[in-house]
Amino acid sequence: MLDMQKHPILHDVQAGREVVWINPKKRDAASGIAAAPVGIDDVLDAEARLARFAPLIAEAFPETKARDGLIESELMELSAMRERLGADSAGITGRLMLKMDSHLAIAGSVKARGGIYEVLKVTEQLALASGILTDTEDDYKKLLLDEARTFYGGKKMQVGSTGNLGMSIGIMSAALGYQAIVHMSADAKQWKKDLLRSRGVTVVEYSGDYGEAVKNGRVQSDLDPDSHFVDDENSRDLFLGYAVAAFRLKKQLDEQEITVDAAHPLFVYLPCGVGGAPGGVCFGLKLVFGDAAHCFFVEPTQAPCMLVGMESGLHSGISVQDIGLTGITEADGLAVGRPSGFIGGVMEPLLSGEMTVEDAKLYDYLRELHESEGIFIEPSACAAFQGVMSLQSSQLQAYIRANHLEGCMENATHIAWATGGSLVPEELRVSFLEKHL
Ligand SMILES: *Cc1c(COP(=O)(O)O)cnc(C)c1O
Repeated sequence: MLDMQKHPILHDVQAGREVVWINPKKRDAASGIAAAPVGIDDVLDAEARLARFAPLIAEAFPETKARDGLIESELMELSAMRERLGADSAGITGRLMLKMDSHLAIAGSVKARGGIYEVLKVTEQLALASGILTDTEDDYKKLLLDEARTFYGGKKMQVGSTGNLGMSIGIMSAALGYQAIVHMSADAKQWKKDLLRSRGVTVVEYSGDYGEAVKNGRVQSDLDPDSHFVDDENSRDLFLGYAVAAFRLKKQLDEQEITVDAAHPLFVYLPCGVGGAPGGVCFGLKLVFGDAAHCFFVEPTQAPCMLVGMESGLHSGISVQDIGLTGITEADGLAVGRPSGFIGGVMEPLLSGEMTVEDAKLYDYLRELHESEGIFIEPSACAAFQGVMSLQSSQLQAYIRANHLEGCMENATHIAWATGGSLVPEELRVSFLEKHL
């Protein structure tokens, strides 16, 4: 049971007000990482597996050729957006950057990291067990030949999704020949269902929310020995696929001669749904940058499941509906009522904090980014900018003092992690850009 008296912030959360929450259980990065059920070796293993698949990816998805089959996004400085947001007058110092996972190849969202990685991991296991690949040194492009496709045609890949995870799993597994089945919640957008069907993916629709779609998908998959279920709430493989982003980011920061260390802190703002994507990225960042990385999750005021789970300590044992919120938001990628228990546990000692954002502001950020920089990202991804703007809050100011960062915020780098948007159809972009709530 939840004792609301012990969690005063939850009164504001319950009332649907925006909040800034600092994680009281955060510890030093090394001990937080040591407490996790996965570590650096697992993330390196994931990176090596993606490298083995890179030649196949480059062949199957020509848009990845320029990066030799690596699915990676730009890190872009946002000078005009920084000005547009009034950072200087708000006392927000340091650079503002955009990590453009919104434009990742194949799936157009952060899910192109975790989702595609999990499909590839299963694919490799099956290929090695069946002899299609003799070993991990073999030519992975063999998997695109008819013989392999026929083999994968006898296997199913299933997932429950609000949209973007389904797109990443669906597109990748259909491309490899699997029977791909995506179980979608009521709030999943029609264009995503249409796009998946056009790629040969079976879309099963549910009238309920994301939790129901996942539950049904899992039950159906578990009944079938030839089916793999991508479990957004518990999957370590998804998590590891997301975590790889940190190695790539480190390289990009080095290339742009941006230092990250104790005197040059890195603040990262990640839109959060069930927690897998931001959790995996945050874990990778703590591995690479240690205590110099400060990670914040951002959630909608009506669906702050991770915040409620972490503040209450109940993790997946509580939903936003349990405290009277609707779980309904325009940010379809973040419309999740119950957080991943696995992620909540891993993040407990590592996450710096969370902030929530009203839906109306997502459209303001969307317009401001488009007008100032000419970049379009989807409403869910715009939540990242609420993180940046929260720097002026008394809670964040206290966090900066508590971490002895007052003297070095001039040297800070702030990264808004843009989690999706490049596949949004043109007519929807226009309506998003005109939308005022
Ligand atoms: C999935 C998604 C997120 C959040 O990822 P979770 O793993 O659900 O926390 C954020 N933004 C977009 C656009 C997404 O598709």
